[in-house]
Amino acid sequence: MAGSGDAHLRGGAALLTVRDLVVDYATDAGVVQAVSGISFDVLPGETLGIVGESGCGKSTTGRAVLRLNQPTGGTIEFRGERIDQAGPARLRTLRREMQMVFQDPVASLNPRRAVKDIVEEGLAIGGMPPPERAARSAAVLAQVGLDQERFADVLPRRLSGGQAQRVAIARALALDPKLLICDEPVSALDVSVQAKTLNLIEELKAAYELTVVFIAHDLGVVRAVSDDVMVMYLGKVCEFGDADLVYDRPAHPYTRALLDSVPLLDTEHGFSGPALEGDIPSPLAPPTGCRFRTRCPLATEQCAVSEPQMRRVREDQYVACHFPLVADSASDAESAPDPTLSG
Ligand code: ADP
Ligand code: MG
Repeated sequence: MAGSGDAHLRGGAALLTVRDLVVDYATDAGVVQAVSGISFDVLPGETLGIVGESGCGKSTTGRAVLRLNQPTGGTIEFRGERIDQAGPARLRTLRREMQMVFQDPVASLNPRRAVKDIVEEGLAIGGMPPPERAARSAAVLAQVGLDQERFADVLPRRLSGGQAQRVAIARALALDPKLLICDEPVSALDVSVQAKTLNLIEELKAAYELTVVFIAHDLGVVRAVSDDVMVMYLGKVCEFGDADLVYDRPAHPYTRALLDSVPLLDTEHGFSGPALEGDIPSPLAPPTGCRFRTRCPLATEQCAVSEPQMRRVREDQYVACHFPLVADSASDAESAPDPTLSG
């Protein structure tokens, strides 16, 4: 079913199905290739973590799923329905089921509206009568740990970052969504508040039976909450798989370098590979072949001329690399392609 380059796809049971998504931005400097043909599935009730350095296309991917930006190419299906082709009226309905929580909580809230009005706004648009709205808003605020009496009439600027993010989460959940896209939801929060906010998202995920896409550049955060992890580099997927496998036994040199640059990770094996050097190349003119090759310690001529396709390196672990790092046990050696034979 899955073709070459699509080995990691989960198939028909997925709630969210993204195929060959391309998002280009036309700018004065040229065409920014923000996302360049990525495919993934998110199964119902699971959390997909998306990681990668700043600028690799994580937010663009999340926003494209909600059609906050228009895909240049590819398809996006939500419960089998083509989001990329939905008209304005249908999109309004669909967006109730797909909610997003952003990085900067205060900026994401209307500064002139009180907390209860922010939480009720989507319900009002949906036509819910005022008494029901008020009851719903009070209940959701209580669920995110904000006392209705104390916070209902407060304006966003009087909230702490953690409180504002709770309001943003309450606003999203008030609509009883199926899919929640969290774009760096704790990156702007004090460290002391980050864990609490993550725990809250985990609790609510269970209570609301949510499917979650969780975007972060902080690898530790993503591991803690994810079933699957997708590692992006310069608009491409370089590794996809079970979170524990990807973190404990990264198979792409980029994933490994990312993990090496984070000393505090609770990985079982302390990696001692080369740390990530240099900057990400310009998305106006990405490298030929493998986009990571200009920073990769293992790159050869082959990496410049042929783009590596996604392939399975272990049960539930997939990598787009000509020379994946997989020979770390006897069982791995069986499934590991011999680099001298590939290409
Ligand atoms: P991430 O969320 O991983 O940091 P983004 O998706 O925000 O990455 O950005 C991917 C690339 O697209 C970056 O090079 C960024 O500068 C560029 N980009 C993002 N939004 C726009 C835009 N509206 N116009 C032009 N370029 C953009
Ligand atoms: Mg981003």
